[in-house]
Amino acid sequence: MVTTFGTLNNTGQSSRTSRGGAAGNQAMVVRGRGGQAMQLPKGMQPIPMREEGGMLIPEGYTMRKIEPAKNYDVVSFAKAMNQDFAPRLKKLFDPETEAALEAQKTGIYIGWRCPEFKHDCQRVNKMSKCFCGHLLGEHAQYTAKSLRVKCAQGGCKCQAFVWTPSRPEDVGEFWHQRRRDFDPSTWRAKCRCKHTHEEHDPAGSRRCKSRGCSCGHFDSNFLCAACDKHWEIHETFFESEQDRIEKGLPYGEMYLPFAEMPDLRNIALTGREDDDSTYLALTQGEGSIPQSNRPVGNNAPANFGGNTKSGFKPVYD
Ligand SMILES: [Zn+2]
Ligand SMILES: [Zn+2]
Ligand SMILES: [Zn+2]
Ligand SMILES: [Zn+2]
Ligand SMILES: [Zn+2]
Repeated sequence: MVTTFGTLNNTGQSSRTSRGGAAGNQAMVVRGRGGQAMQLPKGMQPIPMREEGGMLIPEGYTMRKIEPAKNYDVVSFAKAMNQDFAPRLKKLFDPETEAALEAQKTGIYIGWRCPEFKHDCQRVNKMSKCFCGHLLGEHAQYTAKSLRVKCAQGGCKCQAFVWTPSRPEDVGEFWHQRRRDFDPSTWRAKCRCKHTHEEHDPAGSRRCKSRGCSCGHFDSNFLCAACDKHWEIHETFFESEQDRIEKGLPYGEMYLPFAEMPDLRNIALTGREDDDSTYLALTQGEGSIPQSNRPVGNNAPANFGGNTKSGFKPVYD
């Protein structure tokens, strides 16, 4: 899953090692560039070499195969690097875990992603920030069919909620939290003109309102921590579970952060990799996540004349 891994990378630089291992796959003992003899320091005898699997190996050595790292190894490695790996990972994903739990309760999934993606770069909850500087919960009521959710705060011209990073970690900047004098409440995502999103017009072309700045539209000076693409090519989607099934997007328990990696999923939910109590309560308890046991497919009630694809009418709140 691109989302979570991209971010994990940034957290602990953890999967770099596993990637290297996976890509190389074999421990390279000595490699002569292009099969040529290597330059040796003066006075040194050339080492007798033999070729094995396309690589030159010094005589007397055997090649050691390295298996691609498993997810578990990534976790171990990251924990070894950072004593506080689990609490940091949990804190990092708390807003997204909250968003996933909200989606289960309300049936409204709010995801921020590039339109062609089959995953969300960010799961959005009602405490998520909009470009206008207000939280989603400070905007108008929304449904799973909403296309544009206007801001409800007096004097705000925002016509449509759009997720905007509110923590440096959201854009992969992890060094701030190590600075003693860093105040997370003052951090704002910025434009290339050096002014914050709140200094730009929330409506229209998002021009910069800062005096003397000629910036005509917000042009992010940061990249998405999940996909490394710019903020402005992402969109915020309001969807139902049925929408997501049709679009091939994760839903239900698969919408949880790290859904495919139980250790990390547990950390995101409980702060402990061996504590799956929250997950079990979510999937097995009463009021648990509906795991597609709702009628979908041939027996599903026809939606607005039978064509489920075009059944939804956009709602402009
Ligand atoms: Zn607003
Ligand atoms: Zn807004
Ligand atoms: Zn600007
Ligand atoms: Zn500006
Ligand atoms: Zn992205």
